[in-house]
Amino acid sequence: MRIGIYPGSFDPVTLGHLDIITRATKLVDHLIIGVLKNSSKKSLFTADERVELLERVTNGLPNISIEAYDGLLVDFAKDRGASVIVRGLRAVTDFEYELQLAQTNHKLNPYVDTVFLTTSVDYAYLSSSIVREIASYGGNIGQFVPASIISTIYAKYNIYKF
Ligand code: ADP
Repeated sequence: MRIGIYPGSFDPVTLGHLDIITRATKLVDHLIIGVLKNSSKKSLFTADERVELLERVTNGLPNISIEAYDGLLVDFAKDRGASVIVRGLRAVTDFEYELQLAQTNHKLNPYVDTVFLTTSVDYAYLSSSIVREIASYGGNIGQFVPASIISTIYAKYNIYKF
């Protein structure tokens, strides 16, 4: 059984993430979405909230589970018996950081390999930080995140118009 991990902050999950998740589930037998707890970035949503949002938007996908994790990704992968780390690549700007991360992780745990899925052109520009920025000004985030989480995101900014 091939287990994959798709790690990230998911603060919040976007349609770009969801696209990678859907495609990654076809490459592995089971996909664990790993929500990083102690990112150096200060997050808008707590790890538990980010897990809940992911659960809401992936409802119906058969071979996934969602977990918050702390510490080194390679240790989490080893604990879960995962052999594949899935990451999404948007632009060339992602590449250098992702290459360094993948090579470091492979050094730390040679049994785990990183697989990159290139973003769909529809979502190439999309990031959680863009969503947060637009939502904070009450702009329309309807085309960037799944409908079921829109009002929860606005609520973080005390916006209740939707
Ligand atoms: P991190 O803080 O680890 O970069 P993110 O939640 O921002 O976490 O992203 C998690 C993963 O999803 C990363 O591999 C990132 O490149 C990828 N990703 C983010 N947005 C998109 C998108 N629009 N299309 C494809 N991949 C994406």
